[in-house]
Amino acid sequence: MKDKVTRRDFLNGTRVAIGASLLSPWAEVFGSSSTEFTLPADYYPPAATGLRGSHNGSWEIMHARVNGASWPVGEPEETVDLVVVGGGISGLAAAHFYRKEKPDARVLILDNHDDFGGHAKRNEFSVGGDTRIAYGGTEAIDTPSGYAEVSRQLLVDIGIDVQRFYDYFDQDLYDSMDLSYAIAYDSATYGERKLVHGYGSRSWEDFAADTPMSDKAKADLVRAFNEPTDYLPGMTREEKIALLSRISYRTYLEDYVKVDYQVLEMYQRWGMSYWCVGMDEVPAIYILEYTDGGGLPGLAHTVTREGGRGSEPYIFHFPDGNASVARLLVRKLIPEALPGTTMEDSVTARVDYTQLDREDSDVRIRLNSTVVNAQHTSNSGAVDVTYIHRGDAYTVRAKNVVMACYNSAIPYLCPELPEKQRAGLAYNVKVPLTYTKVMIPNWRWFAELDTRYVFYTNDFYKQVELAYPVSIGDYEFGSSPDEPMALHMCYVPYLDDIQGPEQWRAGRRRLLEMPFSTFEHHVRDQLDQALSGAGFDAERDITAITVNRWAHGYSYSPDLLWEPDYASEADKPWVIGRQPLGRITIANSDAAASSNTNSAIYNAHRAVREALDG
Ligand SMILES: Cc1cc2nc3c(=O)[nH]c(=O)nc-3n(C[C@H](O)[C@H](O)[C@H](O)COP(=O)(O)OP(=O)(O)OC[C@H]3O[C@@H](n4cnc5c(N)ncnc54)[C@H](O)[C@@H]3O)c2cc1C
Repeated sequence: MKDKVTRRDFLNGTRVAIGASLLSPWAEVFGSSSTEFTLPADYYPPAATGLRGSHNGSWEIMHARVNGASWPVGEPEETVDLVVVGGGISGLAAAHFYRKEKPDARVLILDNHDDFGGHAKRNEFSVGGDTRIAYGGTEAIDTPSGYAEVSRQLLVDIGIDVQRFYDYFDQDLYDSMDLSYAIAYDSATYGERKLVHGYGSRSWEDFAADTPMSDKAKADLVRAFNEPTDYLPGMTREEKIALLSRISYRTYLEDYVKVDYQVLEMYQRWGMSYWCVGMDEVPAIYILEYTDGGGLPGLAHTVTREGGRGSEPYIFHFPDGNASVARLLVRKLIPEALPGTTMEDSVTARVDYTQLDREDSDVRIRLNSTVVNAQHTSNSGAVDVTYIHRGDAYTVRAKNVVMACYNSAIPYLCPELPEKQRAGLAYNVKVPLTYTKVMIPNWRWFAELDTRYVFYTNDFYKQVELAYPVSIGDYEFGSSPDEPMALHMCYVPYLDDIQGPEQWRAGRRRLLEMPFSTFEHHVRDQLDQALSGAGFDAERDITAITVNRWAHGYSYSPDLLWEPDYASEADKPWVIGRQPLGRITIANSDAAASSNTNSAIYNAHRAVREALDG
């Protein structure tokens, strides 16, 4: 039984036409040759450029649901053992864990995007007959030694041996070429838009002398890096750590190191791509962990770092980031969809999207399908899941359902949830951000300027950086500056007058309303600023741009200054939120309020255990 989507007009301030008008994009995507769910032979989303990530067509139905639209639960057209809502790493991992226990189980994975992987997305660019691969989101297996045992085992199950990255990732390339970090100072704060090279590689006196900062700010920067001052004298290490956990890095620099306003502003947005807030919200203690790009000033002589993330290099990176984890999971679930047998051959293997949703397959991945309702049948013996695909509503009946989508979406999908659990799930406001990939024909401009990374003190994009030098299987990273390169640029909507969740909600709206031309304008402007000194011309030298727009990006992580203390583990909103509801269990990285692949996987494992034990 199918029902046409009802029409809504204004959603979250954005004018969105739903219903008949959604059908034409579907026709564009699917062509006329595809059957109800099977994708056409030329379907290949990784090669799409323009606005990707939460691409148009992926989010409108769910926003309509949030705004009150509903669809009747029809008689089920299909019956399966497990429905997974969300085809990110957590959803794919849940399917894997379930099938490991029940090899004959029939599983249907539903995702609202035109590609699987959730945040773990692959971008491809065609350059003179060659393919360059880039990561559109989830970028690395960060600190795999810290992964939970079930997550480590999953990586082994799908053929990933993390030790091999020591051979595949060239840790010396950029150092051997003496490429360092540059700061692009903004004119509003510093009176002049100026690019200064050699952050962290020249002496601080030399570096500061070239900046457009005032003499006082220059002297403060040099002092904060060079002088062996303990800015918290008379305190034990424990007392210092306790204080630094309560105050922001900005407060620490301002009140203890006592640096000039221009130095504060230089670092205010430094951690934006990681915490997605200004340094006035980030506890000072985290800066001990932050060693990238020449480090940050002020703490080295106050308290030293012990262990932490720096204990393992940041090298566990496929050319498409953790999209390879998703692709290898898909290979495990549906071998015909990704030819080959090794982690190495998977990198250049092409996904055959026609295999994802075959009628004769026990595991089916149904893309472009937004779930709008999941409800137990009257005898509680199963769950009916209703979803919208190509403008039509369908219902599938399942013994178990794993919600591997976003916590904040679940209350809108599961009407049976108790009030307290709804509030727990709603607590997680995902953080909006974009990863923009810019294809250039070579990177000689960077080599000539001795630069690998530019940090912008106050501009639209926070940074531009060269790709990670990783070669795997038949995929060769272009180690010579004469080779093409997909640059990485990160934009986080930043509203400095509001904090945390409020800022992220407003940022999400801003992101969804922003046209591609705005991103394009800033890419051109900021690359010209960074590279024109070496003859770069954005008009001439950019060959493609892909904006991976993650309106619902990182899972909220409870590590910012204003996070309350909880009396116990059981009181934490995300713990309350992730409790099983009959045959419905809850996975996804939100379930641990922890934005990483490890959490996506071990929460999938927990959700499947609860489903099978329940
Ligand atoms: C830009 C970016 C960079 C990151 N970098 C890293 C990194 O380097 N290392 C790391 O460990 N982690 C990183 N992360 C964190 C990342 O979120 C996790 O590692 C992991 O990919 C999350 O997987 P997931 O399956 O839990 O969630 P998601 O990837 O969000 O997948 C959930 C899926 O459910 C879908 N969905 C939601 N609602 C519905 C619905 N109603 N119907 C159908 N489908 C629905 C979503 O659209 C999505 O496709 C990054 C995140 C972002 C955004």
